[in-house]
Amino acid sequence: MNTVSILDIPVAQTTKAQFVPHVIKEMQQSNKAITIVTANPEIIMLAKENHAYECLLKASSYVVADGIGVVIGAKMLGTPLEERIPGYELVHEFMKTATPERNRFFFYGSKPGVAKQAAERATSLYPQIDVVGICDGYGNDGDGDEVAQKAIAAKPDFIFVATGAPKQEEWIAIHKEHFPHTVMMGVGGSFDVLSGNVDRAPELFIKLNLEWFHRLITQPTRAKRMLKIPQFLWEVQRKKKK
Ligand code: UDP
Repeated sequence: MNTVSILDIPVAQTTKAQFVPHVIKEMQQSNKAITIVTANPEIIMLAKENHAYECLLKASSYVVADGIGVVIGAKMLGTPLEERIPGYELVHEFMKTATPERNRFFFYGSKPGVAKQAAERATSLYPQIDVVGICDGYGNDGDGDEVAQKAIAAKPDFIFVATGAPKQEEWIAIHKEHFPHTVMMGVGGSFDVLSGNVDRAPELFIKLNLEWFHRLITQPTRAKRMLKIPQFLWEVQRKKKK
């Protein structure tokens, strides 16, 4: 798949409609985990500050543009991306298109109880799926080995990891060797939304690419983190001038 380099991170040049069947086809042929990073400006800036994290992103199977900032950055560099691919929408797509041969989902992350609520909602929306394991993201086991053991026993086709960046990508990188036929994707706050505990932005905000603004006004504690968006655009502008 073609990529666009954004501050040295290769971001998949694709649409959601192309990406989902592409990954599913690859699942049938591949004998290693398919790892997906759903990148926003915060994640890319983190990679700029943390070399190990940058290597990890570069070693993942796909980095998709979850945040509109990434799409804007690509445009500024003169290499526009096809569209934004929100991780939350990929979560739905992979479940919606599940078939009996690939319907086993493992949910890892979020506060105690939230992943379970998310799993219940998911199975009511998509009765064809089987949630084969659920773990919250606040266990005492620092590196998530216990969760990995649980996941290995559950034989999932998909693992959604909702422990936030960089934790989720690091957990996937450490444990991916154990999941040779599995799609492993970091999904940030997706279980909070899927479970109904947090509202996703109204459709109009999403259409106008203002989902980030909705998050800022509904979760003002994120303001500091969101300063990474202008910092990212500034870095892109500097890179463009070079
Ligand atoms: N989280 C977790 N364990 C941690 C820290 C965070 O499970 O040690 C969860 C948190 O409860 C939330 C998700 O990780 O559900 C991160 O959400 P955030 O909104 O930060 O992610 P984003 O959507 O911005 O990537």
